[in-house]
Amino acid sequence: MGRKDMEIVFAIDVDSVLANIVDPWLESYNRDFNDNLTRQDLKTWDIHQYAKHECSKEKFFSYIKEDDFYDGVQPVPFAVEAMNFMWEQVNRRVIYVTDSSFTIPGAKADWLQAHGFPFDKKNYFECADKSLIAADYLVDDAPHNLENAFSEAIAYSQPWNADVESALRIDNWTRFMEGSNNE
Ligand SMILES: [Mg+2]
Repeated sequence: MGRKDMEIVFAIDVDSVLANIVDPWLESYNRDFNDNLTRQDLKTWDIHQYAKHECSKEKFFSYIKEDDFYDGVQPVPFAVEAMNFMWEQVNRRVIYVTDSSFTIPGAKADWLQAHGFPFDKKNYFECADKSLIAADYLVDDAPHNLENAFSEAIAYSQPWNADVESALRIDNWTRFMEGSNNE
């Protein structure tokens, strides 16, 4: 199966687009460091700067590197519905493109399937440099990925990308699905 002529390829990031990793992450950090950080506090990509000084960068990022971290991660609201909707569209292909910075390669493939996301191993890529993925659109929350997208970038709104001047933006999947239902 090669790429079809008319096919429009949407590359979809997983962390903080489909998977709500921030809430369980901050919950663990807040518990250990007696803090009350929330998603809204994270105004830039360099999120360690918002943690208490006694929490080293290594410690802060260690939470998401735990083997069972994804067991406590839930899908972003309506992300499953949105992916199933997009997957069914004619001449559209949805691929997942996710950085494998965690301890278990394939952990996010397992997570996607366990939570009802449409899945095919041909549509799953673990990749740290997303600029190499020749998709027509990249839906991502990370400023550096949006700025370096192979073609069009679509910002998935998070507090840390509010300043990114992306021509295209998805506020959240709930609104996206409301829009698609009104077509
Ligand atoms: Mg992300």
